[in-house]
Amino acid sequence: MANTILILAEQLRGSLSDITFEMLGEGRKLANALGVPLYAALLGSEAASLAAKLGAADKVFVVDNASLNMAPANTTAAALKAVMDQAQAGLVLIGGTNVSMGVGAVLSAKANLPFVNYCRAIRADGGAVVLTSQLFGGKILTDVKLTDGKGIVSVYPGAFQADAGKSDKTPAIEKVEVSVEAPKVTFKKYIEPETGDVDITKQNVLIAVGRGIQDKGNVELAEELAATLGGAVCASRPVIDQGWLPLSRQVGKSGMTVKPRLYLALGISGAPEHWEGMQGSQCIVAVNTDPKAPIFDGAHYGIVGDALEFIPLLTDKVKARKG
Ligand SMILES: Cc1cc2nc3c(=O)[nH]c(=O)nc-3n(C[C@H](O)[C@H](O)[C@H](O)COP(=O)(O)OP(=O)(O)OC[C@H]3O[C@@H](n4cnc5c(N)ncnc54)[C@H](O)[C@@H]3O)c2cc1C
Repeated sequence: MANTILILAEQLRGSLSDITFEMLGEGRKLANALGVPLYAALLGSEAASLAAKLGAADKVFVVDNASLNMAPANTTAAALKAVMDQAQAGLVLIGGTNVSMGVGAVLSAKANLPFVNYCRAIRADGGAVVLTSQLFGGKILTDVKLTDGKGIVSVYPGAFQADAGKSDKTPAIEKVEVSVEAPKVTFKKYIEPETGDVDITKQNVLIAVGRGIQDKGNVELAEELAATLGGAVCASRPVIDQGWLPLSRQVGKSGMTVKPRLYLALGISGAPEHWEGMQGSQCIVAVNTDPKAPIFDGAHYGIVGDALEFIPLLTDKVKARKG
């Protein structure tokens, strides 16, 4: 098998996901460094119409088959293995997202190649490929070397710039016929997130509240600060679990990944599962009564103090500054 690079182009409800372009950008750099072609695989009945948008790839392999729409990992992996063989791919990049999670591990078994999960960085090292993998929610980063450049890689969403993978070029397109077994699990329906709520992934300023906010009434203090600063309120899991804010505001492993310019963490301890979702913020300011709270290990600025005293104080200062 030659060492071409293949990415699984991910789509949701007819649109290509950001992770697709993240992988295309990074895959392009790696392919250039290794002197091999970069290919993309598009699976599903809406695939053909999206192929032209994958210009960063040299060629797009399209499997136009309705059984692959929102298919379970096993079905997707079987079709991807067929594309992998056709493309003579040695390295396959797959998004570590809710949509594609699970495909990599199955494909690794089918292709008998090593699987590297939670990849945050990729580089060529001679003919080898070195991948930086994130463990324990980002507390540990480890380098994994694929000496022959072959393996299956799950790419951590948000690790790379999506814009780097966008191109006006027109890729070559090749149709692949794959016989797909009827999936044992079928997709029933897509449940829309609660409407009318803010998208915390699009905010420049996030005021994040944790268990230290103490009761539901105090969330209003954070709401006022967010409105004053022109941002939105988000939260750690205990706040969501208690029903003080909707699930769409949860940041972390089982919530959203956010990268605002300012992340103000109020009464949040900084558990790995929370850190995972906000570590990419440009400026993290933490307020916590406990000077040993883990959040201070990674925050850019730390304030040891009571968030309930700090919030109204800051709100008043910002209002006064704004006149
Ligand atoms: C599989 C799995 C997935 C998970 N997913 C997520 C996730 O997506 N997001 C998430 O957030 N968590 C997640 N968790 C939970 C996570 O492990 C932590 O339990 C959670 O992040 C803790 O939230 P917290 O920091 O608000 O609460 P705590 O850990 O209880 O911390 C509260 C902090 O507030 C401080 N404090 C108390 N009073 C004040 C005050 N008046 N002023 C200032 N500081 C004060 C305390 O010193 C403490 O540091 C997950 C866990 C598991 C096992």
